[in-house]
Amino acid sequence: MEKKNIDWENIGFGYIQTDKRFVANYKNGAWDEGTLTDDANIVLNECAGVLQYAQTCFEGMKAYTTEDGHIVTFRPDLNAQRMEDSARRLEMPVFPQDKFVEAIVKTVEANEAYVPPYGSGATLYIRPYMFGSSPVIGVKPAEEYQFRILTTPVGPYFKGGVKPLTIRVSDFDRAAPNGTGHIKAGLNYAMSLHAIVTAHEEGYAENMYLDAATRTKVEETGGANFIFVTKDNKVVTPKSNSILPSITRRSLMVVAKDYLGLEVEEREVYLDEVKDFAECGLCGTAAVISPVGKIVDHGKEICFPSGMEEMGPITKKLYETLTGIQMGRIEAPEGWIKVIK
Ligand SMILES: *Cc1c(COP(=O)(O)O)cnc(C)c1O
Repeated sequence: MEKKNIDWENIGFGYIQTDKRFVANYKNGAWDEGTLTDDANIVLNECAGVLQYAQTCFEGMKAYTTEDGHIVTFRPDLNAQRMEDSARRLEMPVFPQDKFVEAIVKTVEANEAYVPPYGSGATLYIRPYMFGSSPVIGVKPAEEYQFRILTTPVGPYFKGGVKPLTIRVSDFDRAAPNGTGHIKAGLNYAMSLHAIVTAHEEGYAENMYLDAATRTKVEETGGANFIFVTKDNKVVTPKSNSILPSITRRSLMVVAKDYLGLEVEEREVYLDEVKDFAECGLCGTAAVISPVGKIVDHGKEICFPSGMEEMGPITKKLYETLTGIQMGRIEAPEGWIKVIK
């Protein structure tokens, strides 16, 4: 199979249209079979639920070319489960988990020419999403829905190597204690845009959000979970029911424990204790781990001993082990790798 003529090493993290996408429709209480289509556009009624009341949720995952030339995805069953959780919370119909994984496989196979080659640093980003498609004017769930999967090749998140980020403690809240922070709802991102745009204007890469109730505990950023490393090499991640359960973060905790033999802890993390950690990283599918060098809390700087030039040593080991597993260089735990072809 001939790959597309794309400069894989130099693509960014943007949308590049691929040939095929998956579409399934929910109507009269049932999903249809779903199909692949060439049409990248969606025609919707002006009053569609997604347009009026933001009834939409999504997932994010990647397909990788492994060292031995297979195309694989990473733990798609967990994306299927999380999309089910998101759909239930938003009163949307569940797209069956086994069908979800099947549709991922079909969509990636159909866009094989866009799966970046091994060693390029690029990957095929996969975006499953669902939205209320039928007209709604009184506030209630739509009756009809569309589930789609689009793919787009993306470059390495960090061009020219990974440099530690400077982030700030945000004055905005991301998620209410009993709200929607734990699901991947579009609405969580709409309301984060003002916070991230102003953070960028002020020279920060990301916002650290605190718990909305007490503003004393670390939650996450707009799109990534935190991991910290203590001075005695324990890996710590914040626990809260308003954090989105990152699959990358959950996998890194397994890697830390089972591959690196480190102690791991998921617990409440107070902002006050962050200054005592040795390393800090942000984890998510897009970048795997982005090291954080500095956190600015209203003029007060927390600088990690790992500095502003390189990832901390434990962060680096975690990064290399997990990407090694994803690219087939290191043996994966049972069930983590779904071979597409
Ligand atoms: C998607 C997302 C993450 C990262 O989750 P992964 O499954 O690791 O990609 C973290 N935080 C938020 C708010 C997210 O939406």
